[in-house]
Amino acid sequence: MIPYGRQSISEDDIRAVTEVLRSDWLTQGPAIERFEQAVAQYCGAKYAVAVSNATAALHIACLAAGLQKDDILWTSPNTFVASANCALYCGARPDFVDIDPRSYNLSADALEAKLAEAEKQGTLPNVVVPVHFAGQPCDMARISELANRYGFAVIEDASHAIGGKYRNTPVGACEFSDMTVFSFHPVKIVTTGEGGMVLTNRQDLYERLLRLRSHGITRDPQQMCDPPDGPWYYQQIELGFNYRMTDIQAALGASQMTRLDEFVRRRQQLAVRYDALLQDLPLLTPWRDPDGYSAFHLYVIRLHLDQIKPTHLQVFEALREQGIGVNLHYIPVHTQPYYRKLGFTAGDFPVAERYYREAISLPMFYGMSDQQQDQVVAALLEALR
Ligand SMILES: *Cc1c(COP(=O)(O)O)cnc(C)c1O
Repeated sequence: MIPYGRQSISEDDIRAVTEVLRSDWLTQGPAIERFEQAVAQYCGAKYAVAVSNATAALHIACLAAGLQKDDILWTSPNTFVASANCALYCGARPDFVDIDPRSYNLSADALEAKLAEAEKQGTLPNVVVPVHFAGQPCDMARISELANRYGFAVIEDASHAIGGKYRNTPVGACEFSDMTVFSFHPVKIVTTGEGGMVLTNRQDLYERLLRLRSHGITRDPQQMCDPPDGPWYYQQIELGFNYRMTDIQAALGASQMTRLDEFVRRRQQLAVRYDALLQDLPLLTPWRDPDGYSAFHLYVIRLHLDQIKPTHLQVFEALREQGIGVNLHYIPVHTQPYYRKLGFTAGDFPVAERYYREAISLPMFYGMSDQQQDQVVAALLEALR
């Protein structure tokens, strides 16, 4: 089976991990700071906070942004459920903005229209979470302009996009947002097994994120409400969590970061090769936003169903039967049973729903060979017949 995504672990990665295993620190040691600095420096952000996964990162980013009970968070329906669930963790209400039919990202036009309507109704969002779907950055300049006009915080869900660029600036620089979140799950670009990170340029958010990662506890006397009892003293000043990453994971992440450019370059190369191999088939290949350099976490095609005999399901099943580990990103979040119980229904976000009926994610990972890619294309040709 050729999987849709797969990690690439080098001997250097293994060495970095075993070094930590022989060291004094398995968690809360120096590898965490090394990894945080490597990512912050790469992205050009001031601060980075490593956590146990991107879902935890989204949760504490929302809390740091001040999201609370009955507040409102908007995100894209074309994402993993975690981008919306973070609102529910805070007692806030999630809602969605339909996608752009070309980029499959949250549409800035739809956002602008929905904001104008929400202003009249008194239901403006407190936080908007744009998701850089498949690694292609959202229209951040317009989103940030709207954030300034309507006063909402922006948290980029860049789980797919580390190593990508928006207008020649690395994703994660937080030039057009308050915070950016990365995921280091094995199918993503860079992995730590499980892992996530929040980046920001604001010191106040940074201090809050550090506290929330570890029980809401501080050891900084400046943050305490009374003077410390002694050198052992710490204070819990809010409710936080244990969302810490281990040093074992961070060492793997720091080692992987040295190959990030190489990872993305190969993904870009595979994407260009797919474009050429698929150009005469009854399907749509990914659009490239001239403002963005995609990290190509995913390579998604859309079938022209009116030009082929088999159905979407039949093409998908035929590919799986031939050992091609295709996948589908994403089932629109608002159509999940849990979200339907919250009041959403099919038809609410028609562009994302139509996309879902036509999309297939083809295998795309750093270690994929040209030959494996040819095998995918041959199987697709067969499946479309
Ligand atoms: C993978 C992913 C997440 C969740 O990441 P975890 O590290 O698995 O918690 C969130 N949002 C998007 C868009 C993702 O792809």
